[in-house]
Amino acid sequence: MSSRPEPTQCPPEGSSDLFAKCRGFTRAREVQAQGIYPFFVPIEKNLGTEIEIEGRRLVMAGSNNYLGLTHHPAVIAAAHEALDTFGTSCSGSRFLNGTLELHVELERRLAQFLGREAALCFSTGFQTNLGVISCLGGRDDVILTDRENHASIMDGCRLSFAEIKKFRHNDLADLEHHLRTAVNEGRRGKLIVVDGVYSMMGDLADLPGICALARRYGARVLVDEAHAVGVLGARGRGTAEHQRVESEVDLVVGTFSKSFASLGGFVAGDEAVIHYIKHHARPLMFSAAIHPAAAAAALAALDVIESEPELRVRLLANADYVRRGLRRLGFRTVDAQTPIVPVIIGDQEGMFRFWKALFDEGVFTNPVTGPAVPPGMDLIRTSYIATHTQQQLDAVLRGFRAASQRAGLALAPAPDGNGRAHELDGD
Ligand code: PMP
Repeated sequence: MSSRPEPTQCPPEGSSDLFAKCRGFTRAREVQAQGIYPFFVPIEKNLGTEIEIEGRRLVMAGSNNYLGLTHHPAVIAAAHEALDTFGTSCSGSRFLNGTLELHVELERRLAQFLGREAALCFSTGFQTNLGVISCLGGRDDVILTDRENHASIMDGCRLSFAEIKKFRHNDLADLEHHLRTAVNEGRRGKLIVVDGVYSMMGDLADLPGICALARRYGARVLVDEAHAVGVLGARGRGTAEHQRVESEVDLVVGTFSKSFASLGGFVAGDEAVIHYIKHHARPLMFSAAIHPAAAAAALAALDVIESEPELRVRLLANADYVRRGLRRLGFRTVDAQTPIVPVIIGDQEGMFRFWKALFDEGVFTNPVTGPAVPPGMDLIRTSYIATHTQQQLDAVLRGFRAASQRAGLALAPAPDGNGRAHELDGD
């Protein structure tokens, strides 16, 4: 019979215990007890646009697999072949024994695709931001970072020795104020860091405005294109291409965990800068390399991104269809041409209840609460896939409508162009 491990002993009475905060953390258990806990849900089967949980089929409306390439035959075949050729792991960092020809080829192809001199791959997108930002931000420098930037950018800033200035989201006047102060204080290097597409709200950075300020104040610009590479721009190069300011952006960061259907991250830019990062970024030098199957999958996905531009068109059309449908049903969402469609609910418990109602209606979405969004802005993040069928998109809309009734959510349906409330297939 297996014996259950006992909790570790507390320190003597009167002394303070490091673990006290853990035992005092009850919020997640309360939500679990209410049966509306939405995190760490185990998926039994992943078919790309649909998944199975507890034997039930759900439409996946919460994945970053934007182009649907996790199930593309060429991507799967490339991963299989790399497994057979190189085994399951690189068993070391890129710096020492972990660099494969596959990594070098992937970096060459990425640089070419993005029109940059060089690229460098990290084990995740998170580690890319940690490594790049922390090693570039030196003691006399300043980093200007949008308040809604991804957590990995915030943590990269914290790890750097630079002074950190957070500016209000997409607020050029606030950014300029901080730039002017930095110049007056005689800061040497200035780095502006923004997301191209903001991961929770799906809105875009104002890159033309940001780049104009960077030029005026002698700052460098880093854009995290995690949600935009493969998605936006005529060639799928991201927000900077979409907004026609690529030549004014100094560094592009991306991830393989979204459109590239894999795991890993990258930075691309001038060769001298990438060479420096290669020899100073600790998350690159002291962590194991992207494993062979993941590198090969990313490389094969890049082939598809370059050769099948129609996937991007379908993806944006799919997201647009649901965004318009949700708005007609009366949901509060955000107007942006990206695959991310947030639905703002408001308070945390209401959002958890609505997430569960959607789950019960067969729609899998992402619950988003603080600190990822400001208080009162708790939302359901939905995102779409190029390979979603019309039936699946309509099932999402039907699920939202039924869930709002189930959760007692008050909606204000907007009439469509004909003055009628929106009708769905199967009504
Ligand atoms: N940057 C942004 C904007 C992201 O949204 C994410 C992931 N959600 C990352 C970086 C981290 O990427 P990864 O999953 O590859 O660690």
